[in-house]
Amino acid sequence: MPSDRPTAFVVSQGEELLTGLVLDTNARHLCEQLTDLGFRVTGAATAGDRVESIARTLRSAAGASVVVCTGGLGPTADDLTAEGAALAFDRPIELHPEALAQVEARYAVLGRTMAPSNRRQAMLPASAEVLENRMGTAPGFALELDDGRRLFFLPGVPFEMRAMWSDRVAPRLSGRTPRRHLFRVLGRGESQLQDLLGEVPVRFPGIQLGFRAAMPENQVKLTAEPEVSPDRFEAAVSAVRALLGRDCFSEREELSLAARVGEILVERGERLALAESCTGGQVAHLCVTEPGSSRWLDRGFVTYSNAAKVDGVGVREATLDAFGAVSEETAAEMARGARAAAGADWGLSTTGVAGPGGGTPEKPVGTVCFAVDGPAGTHTRTLRMPARDRSAVRRFSSFVALDMLRRQIERLAPRE
Ligand code: AMP
Ligand code: MG
Repeated sequence: MPSDRPTAFVVSQGEELLTGLVLDTNARHLCEQLTDLGFRVTGAATAGDRVESIARTLRSAAGASVVVCTGGLGPTADDLTAEGAALAFDRPIELHPEALAQVEARYAVLGRTMAPSNRRQAMLPASAEVLENRMGTAPGFALELDDGRRLFFLPGVPFEMRAMWSDRVAPRLSGRTPRRHLFRVLGRGESQLQDLLGEVPVRFPGIQLGFRAAMPENQVKLTAEPEVSPDRFEAAVSAVRALLGRDCFSEREELSLAARVGEILVERGERLALAESCTGGQVAHLCVTEPGSSRWLDRGFVTYSNAAKVDGVGVREATLDAFGAVSEETAAEMARGARAAAGADWGLSTTGVAGPGGGTPEKPVGTVCFAVDGPAGTHTRTLRMPARDRSAVRRFSSFVALDMLRRQIERLAPRE
């Protein structure tokens, strides 16, 4: 392990974390983020709602060069982090007018009057720097100790914490960011990725390869130690890109599969229609989750019964009788029917056995048929989902459907 990396420590504050009422997702997020920024996270600890234990935890955490603490900044009597920090580092606690102004402004935006208890949120250790909270009322704060060690105090509410972290804290810590690059992959499992990419760190010393399973997606992350030159890092990124090929659907954290599909459809000025059976609207849900989806999603049919497949998207009775509802023939007619009804450029369909009942020896639970109908004709596939429980089968098949569409479109429009 490289020992020259700066160290960081994460502190979570809140009795509810110790009683098991709330899962500590903040620590997980911060440990991941700090690691990505090149810190060696030496520990994480939780303190309950007592000033002394908060102070003790912070003092021992401050062995690291950076401490990030979340929780306990609210207006109630159990929000004691500022007092704990004041006690730990021997600073008086005082009213920070800037923090008070932020709390008041926040209430003004919400059109409410501030309760007197909210003044508490502006009582911070002397010489603390106030950190603005865009998402809530509790300001955060930062403390710098005499020897340069820094402590950041963020709200406990996860979305407020994340916003403050990325707006106010991460940019200041990123001076020593090792370069990193993310690949988001579908269609290859972790062990396949290991086999495919295992040589990369050997060929490129100083570059680490990390894997993360985010079912059904897998993520590959390359991280370069500071001594690796930018050209060398770019060469490693290109090598991985070439090895992954079409299996990589995105190289950006915020670019989801549906967003990628939307991006290429918008580039091409094309629109999509869906006919979903076993996924019951989940493909549509993934699409609509993306802002701006109205530019590329025309409509979605949930055609669950045979009658709906016939009435809704024009599947022929004869097709259902001959091949069954879960068949590539039916999937093909669903995709064509949806596309025709919408006058869209692409039709995408799913029909399968989500379980737990309904499986047969030929079509066991998890069998799903897909079809993409588009400018180059109809493409169908049958896959067995690597899951047995109903919600996992539905989730997997929704992603597989969108990914099949992505691959079909990318085939027509190869990436430059
Ligand atoms: P607090 O800032 O301590 O008032 O926390 C506000 C709320 O945020 C708590 O009631 C929890 O639901 C949530 N919360 C606090 N700390 C965490 C944490 N470490 N992980 C996830 N949620 C948290
Ligand atoms: Mg609390």
